Amino acid sequence: ANRIVVKVGTSSLIHPNGAVNLETFDQLAYTLSTLNNQGKQLILVSSGAMGVGLNKMHLKKRPEEIGAQQALSAIGQSELMTLFTQRFNHYLTDIAQVLLTHDIFDYPKSNRSVMDTFNCLLKDNVIPIVNENDTVATDELDHKTTFGDNDQLSAIVASHMNADLLIVLSDIDGFYNHNPHKFADAKMIPTVSNITNDTFTVAGGTGSRFGTGGMQTKLLAAKRMLDENRQMVLANGKDPRIILDILAGRQVGTWFSK
Ligand code: ADP
Repeated sequence: ANRIVVKVGTSSLIHPNGAVNLETFDQLAYTLSTLNNQGKQLILVSSGAMGVGLNKMHLKKRPEEIGAQQALSAIGQSELMTLFTQRFNHYLTDIAQVLLTHDIFDYPKSNRSVMDTFNCLLKDNVIPIVNENDTVATDELDHKTTFGDNDQLSAIVASHMNADLLIVLSDIDGFYNHNPHKFADAKMIPTVSNITNDTFTVAGGTGSRFGTGGMQTKLLAAKRMLDENRQMVLANGKDPRIILDILAGRQVGTWFSK
């Protein structure tokens, strides 16, 4: 794979107690810098703005109103990029912030302008770090919709930027035949080549405290990748160096591949 989109979930970036997981930030910067130096083109889609914002404002849980959540995301987004800038600077890698909405590729003019931006950044070996623009869109914040979230945003980006591979890092080793947090005997499925309605029924409920999408949105992303003959790997982001194992073709995580 030469063009790779990596999506990292809130659960990888924020400890369960709400503190920022600085080690993950560092290992992610190390791993992506290494790959960037090898000539791979990388796009990072990072959640975590709200988690970082909550931490910054010493809050334990998300506020009720969407407006207050958007405000926290705005606070957290700049803090999130500060954390990434620090760690990527350490490995001498340039990064850029790209804030998108899910529908941005639907309009020819904005589509062209987003593609131009990505292409220029990638040509110059700069790693774009993408997040949903929570100030103007509430898709990721709105629990009622499964349409908007960074899992699917990462698939949209992978699709339009013609990436071969989407790597989704979460708090879980892969896709299981039951939610492993509810069923002790759940087993991980190493490869999935076809996603049906039955696949969706075993991906129940939303996940972590700060995470949003749960497994449903990851499956929707995987389905899109499969439909377009791309690959997706779902793996545990607790140590992002797992990306190196994935690219070495080792059997880690769940591979969604035809
Ligand atoms: P992130 O913040 O990384 O996007 P989420 O918490 O949104 O992560 O989604 C991952 C969670 O999905 C898992 O921790 C697990 O609780 C839940 N889940 C539900 N069904 C499954 C399944 N079949 N296999 C794996 N995880 C599942």
